[in-house]
Amino acid sequence: MESWPLLTAEQVHGNKITIVDRPVGVGRQFAGCDGIITNQRKILLGIHVADCCAVYIVDPKTPAIGLVHSGRKGTELGVVSNAITQMSARFGSRPPDLIVQLSPCICPPHYEIDFAAKIIEQCRAQGMRKIHDSGVCTACHVDRYYSYRAEKGRTGRMLALLGLE
Ligand SMILES: [Zn+2]
Repeated sequence: MESWPLLTAEQVHGNKITIVDRPVGVGRQFAGCDGIITNQRKILLGIHVADCCAVYIVDPKTPAIGLVHSGRKGTELGVVSNAITQMSARFGSRPPDLIVQLSPCICPPHYEIDFAAKIIEQCRAQGMRKIHDSGVCTACHVDRYYSYRAEKGRTGRMLALLGLE
């Protein structure tokens, strides 16, 4: 897996998704997007987070995958919904087949808005059933996770990774 190219998103707190539907030779960062979906094997998708949610989407049937950065703003803009819509349109993914995993992210009372709950709501509204929330707040566990807010901006970033064997 060390030799798989790493594809990352610029992460601008928007709702644009990059679609990768052909083989990729080398790693790169895609500008202006907050998520990447692909049906290609042996590439790694990467998203950096420190309080925002990394949302892993796996379609074991087609197969296809998606990895999305969804914080407060991206969630309001429906970035995860957009990724699912694009996976359906481009790869023929069916929402009931999709497995979704939410990474640890900042939650109330450490943050005003429970955007993880909103992401789950949005997924359910699209007909997804296999939704898993880590249920872990990053700001509650700064010994284990980076938290931008709890550490007042002086922190690192975690790298979420997802790839198809
Ligand atoms: Zn907390």
